Amino acid sequence: MNQRIILVEDEEHLSRGLQFNFEADGYDVTVFDAGEGALQHLESDDEPDADLIILDVMLPGISGFETLKRIRESGRDIPVLLLTARGAETDIIHGLDLGADDYLTKPFALPVLQARVRTLLRRASRGDDAGPQLENFEIGDVTVLADRFELVRDGTTYPLTAKELGLLLLLYERRGSAVSRGEILQEVWDLHPDTKTRVVDTFVLRLRKHIEPDPSRPRHIHSVRSYGYRLEV
Ligand code: CA
Repeated sequence: MNQRIILVEDEEHLSRGLQFNFEADGYDVTVFDAGEGALQHLESDDEPDADLIILDVMLPGISGFETLKRIRESGRDIPVLLLTARGAETDIIHGLDLGADDYLTKPFALPVLQARVRTLLRRASRGDDAGPQLENFEIGDVTVLADRFELVRDGTTYPLTAKELGLLLLLYERRGSAVSRGEILQEVWDLHPDTKTRVVDTFVLRLRKHIEPDPSRPRHIHSVRSYGYRLEV
């Protein structure tokens, strides 16, 4: 079955062009010109959930931010790529804090968006875009299948986004040592180390739910006060 992309974009010439190109790449694309429509689609039991959402920030009606917030509040961890205005760094940070997995600033080149989409969806489409071989590793009772963008716990498989895996790989490479928030921001999100954002903490909370036997008393991903995080396997 084709992977499904939901595109929320009110600029019709742009959404038509993107739909045409992504369908040519073999994806099923559903387009909405407002966040409300996309949320209704996601909440409908008759419609299959999407594999990826491309979400414009500037929309009529509720904004892309509000749409993203409601998607995450509904418990959906579908990868979301935000389309933001150029130079609006505060928008980028706000979006990441709300749970976006990646962002692209407008105007963007189509091949860049296509590459970002492939990366976000890689766990399901590996093979046609294999990239470097990643090693699998264990954290407690959890096995991280890095090359598959998955982790396995008690026989259940959970998908990982590219950023979740990137964060885990960095902490694992430096296991036993504290890694600063600034370094994580730079390495995983390509942001300046001084960027004021809670995205690292948000992602650690997400990972703890999968990895920790008791997320409220972490045994593997430890907080290092005023500094960052330390992984103990
Ligand atoms: Ca727009």
